Amino acid sequence: MMDEITKGVREAFAFLCETPHGSGNEAALCGRLADRLRRDGYAPDCDEKGNLYCDLPASDGRADAPRVLLQAHLDMVCAVGSPDYHPETDPIRPIERDGWLCTAGESSLGADCGAGLAVMLWLAEHPAPGRPPIRLICTVEEEIGLLGAREIPAERLADAAYLINLDGFRFGRMVVGAAGGLREHFTRPCPSAPAPETPNGAAYRLTFSGFAGGHSGFDIGKKRANAVLLMGELLRELRMEVPFALVSFTGGTAFNAIPYTCTAELVTIAPARDVIESLADKLCARYAETEPEGRLTVEEIARPAQVMDGGAASGLLTALGGFADGVYALHPETGAVADSSNLGHVYQADGQLCLDAMIRCVDGQAEQALHQSHQLVCGMCGFTGQITSRYSAWPAEGDSKLVSLLAQAYRARVGQEPEISVQHVGLEPSFLREKNPNLQCVCIGMELADCHSPQERWKLDTVAPFVSMLSDTLTALGADSAE
Ligand SMILES: [Zn+2]
Repeated sequence: MMDEITKGVREAFAFLCETPHGSGNEAALCGRLADRLRRDGYAPDCDEKGNLYCDLPASDGRADAPRVLLQAHLDMVCAVGSPDYHPETDPIRPIERDGWLCTAGESSLGADCGAGLAVMLWLAEHPAPGRPPIRLICTVEEEIGLLGAREIPAERLADAAYLINLDGFRFGRMVVGAAGGLREHFTRPCPSAPAPETPNGAAYRLTFSGFAGGHSGFDIGKKRANAVLLMGELLRELRMEVPFALVSFTGGTAFNAIPYTCTAELVTIAPARDVIESLADKLCARYAETEPEGRLTVEEIARPAQVMDGGAASGLLTALGGFADGVYALHPETGAVADSSNLGHVYQADGQLCLDAMIRCVDGQAEQALHQSHQLVCGMCGFTGQITSRYSAWPAEGDSKLVSLLAQAYRARVGQEPEISVQHVGLEPSFLREKNPNLQCVCIGMELADCHSPQERWKLDTVAPFVSMLSDTLTALGADSAE
């Protein structure tokens, strides 16, 4: 039976691999999936965004059991490992190597989330005994901002009690909650002024580089340097020793990325290279262990005619000094990051200074507190702020009925305790739960490695126990109707 499951799921996955399905290019795969489900006797349909739905009726006598949603995303990240591979048109060619399914290295495998989709197809074609009513949901454009999940009409979720998302990549890990996200944008007028007369001074371009940066969800707990805040600190200290006028300031790349680089240009009243370099040495020494490549480059540049208005420059440096950034709170039980903030991008555009930041919190009050502190500090420095997008936290549900049943099935199949985890990034259940707060949600998966890269692979001996665990859980949820 175990071999039959693995064989069947692999066949379903091979079917998916025939049609390219990078983000935004899911329609062809979606059409073929719908055709296959229709052939199996179901009646799938799509919403306006292109998300696919398919109801699987309950077993006899189980029609009153609460509905279960099984969900995975249709799109994949097309990482290319060979110039001859064209992700828009070429199929994926899975091969088996050392117990893993992978490609020969020409492209990513798309097991994220094709593995989950293949399991859904297998379950549609091999119904679990005593199953409750099930709805399959296949979303588009997950990998480029969970765009499909955001657009699911609430009616599609209203009649369901449970959501099992199949986008996990560790067999045995059950994600039971996720931080919410709030994106901030602050702006301040930044007029220019004539450069000061500084006959004994000089002009410099300072660039912090070589820091690790990273994702503001996955990496914020790693105590990495924020190059923008480091530049702010350096300039505030420099100001005490050698007065200067700021010419420009730009750092980071996006609200959700930790800045690994920052550049500032300035005009000083006296030569300042030595002072700048010794201040930079002191700051970089703080990260010598973890980010030894981090450094400041100082270049002398031609004197500009114009500089940043003094009020704007002071406002910026003070705001950077007061901006709450990094880890704000840890989970009391797991020690993982619970609440955090990342000032990810500082730039000048259309005569304005702009700051973009991202707050991630499991706790709504922490989110409020961080946002208010940003508003307060930036407000005192002449900035006005706005929230450009926001999604709710998925509060941890470690003791829900759904998670208990899954954990029980996992113990029975594998003989180990599952790992219960809360993520610091937004996941599709965050958006689905927002539309139906009564949904009990969990995210699970088989063992995948190196997703989003040509080395992506899928451990084949986790397929059958995963499917069996899921099947057992569906049967248990079907028995719910008797109560
Ligand atoms: Zn995924």
